[in-house]
Amino acid sequence: MTVRTRIAPSPTGDPHVGTAFVALFNLCFARQHGGQFILRIEDTDQARSTGESENDILGALRWLGLEWDEGPDVGGPYGPYRQSERKDSYRQYAEDLVTNGHAFYCFRTPEELDAIREERKAQGLNPGIKGDLELSPEEVDRRLAAGDPHVIRMKVPEHGVCEIEDMLRGTIEIDWGQVDCQILLKSDGMPTYHLANVVDDHEMRITHVLRGEEWINSAPKHKLLYEYFGWQMPVLCHLPLLRNPDKSKLSKRKNPTSINFYERMGFLPEAVTNYLGRMGWSMPDEREKFTLSEMIADFDIQRMSLGGPVFDVEKLRWLNGQWIRDELSEEQFIERMRQWWFNEQALKNLVPHIKGRAEVFTDVAPMASFMFSGMLDLSPEDFAHNKLDEGQIRRILQFTLWKLEAQRHWSKENIFADIKFLANAMDLKMGDFMFAIFIAIAGTPNSWSVMDSMAMIGPDMTRSRLRHALAVMGGFSKKETKRVEKEFAALAGQ
Ligand code: GLU
Repeated sequence: MTVRTRIAPSPTGDPHVGTAFVALFNLCFARQHGGQFILRIEDTDQARSTGESENDILGALRWLGLEWDEGPDVGGPYGPYRQSERKDSYRQYAEDLVTNGHAFYCFRTPEELDAIREERKAQGLNPGIKGDLELSPEEVDRRLAAGDPHVIRMKVPEHGVCEIEDMLRGTIEIDWGQVDCQILLKSDGMPTYHLANVVDDHEMRITHVLRGEEWINSAPKHKLLYEYFGWQMPVLCHLPLLRNPDKSKLSKRKNPTSINFYERMGFLPEAVTNYLGRMGWSMPDEREKFTLSEMIADFDIQRMSLGGPVFDVEKLRWLNGQWIRDELSEEQFIERMRQWWFNEQALKNLVPHIKGRAEVFTDVAPMASFMFSGMLDLSPEDFAHNKLDEGQIRRILQFTLWKLEAQRHWSKENIFADIKFLANAMDLKMGDFMFAIFIAIAGTPNSWSVMDSMAMIGPDMTRSRLRHALAVMGGFSKKETKRVEKEFAALAGQ
């Protein structure tokens, strides 16, 4: 048997470090066994999936050196590798399950489902959606003929325990009572993750599924689907979730989570990959610094420990420093700096802003230093403004952050439109609104157009500086956040 593993990202946002972590372990596992590593794009959520996000994810994994053997861009014998392009086959599979009595058409409205849940709760039953939604065959035929909207749901047992074998965790027991009659095919004809994932893992001959532990609860549904189809289930292995230093689940509010941020900050890809390899895993001699090929050569999944590994940017900085000192010659250092930001193109972008302002060349570095920096050294006093109070400053920063987090087409024009919209909606003069943004991005109100600066430093650095500025201003408590979210939604609805 040839070992085949895969990473199956959903292209709905920035390339997440968690995706890179799972990709790395799938790659190492496949390589160690002389097998193949596949990249599949799970874009069945059409409303949230974007081509930009897909490109970003592919670019980020490549930047880290995590190359796949088959995928949407390189092709392969089991393509297409993008689920939206495999759409037609899923319906047939779902309908086959209906024919075999393992799934059923469901016409219930959300209100009806809520009522059923309530009733089950009142009877002391698990509120999960169960097979008691089924209609008689005549009723189903009548409603299908009438063209009524419907989904296809799988049947799951009401009682008993499902046993899942996990490579690292042994036998995991999950009560069937907790498992919903999962929707397999949505009313728009698209499959849900569960159906598409199982069908594709089978058709792509995946033998081992290494994925995040957040998917453990889905495993019973998958196991049942494999049984219903009569297919052999791949071996499962649920990896631990990465954590912030305070042990909470890794989140961008506490730690930058986008791989692009680390690239933009000037980390070396080798160091980031090395650090991801230290997440819950170690080399036999426990050394901290190793290359990807060394990791593959010494790989053993059993050395993975399950305690949530902490992704600590300070430790990553330290490791990156080791890589710079030990592994780069001075020539290579220069070359890497060029690739990063000290290059002709960056200068060409900058010079139009500098030329009209500098009297002598020694003016250049001080006025442009923020373009080459990471987080700026700011204090609350920097944000003092005679027309804006602290609450307004924090709202400007937070609303701009949220608005720009949703911006998938990064250009000066779009950033401008977002900011103008917010200033209008908050009834603030553009000049006053922009003051807080200038401080957050450039550290001073006396710089060239901050829209140009944001366009040049890119989305990840922009968002991180806004987040940092917000933290400097004390941020919002959990309770305040709820209120501010509502205010933002009201503004956005205008
Ligand atoms: N599309 C899923 C995700 O975004 C894949 C989960 C899996 O590996 O099964 O994480």
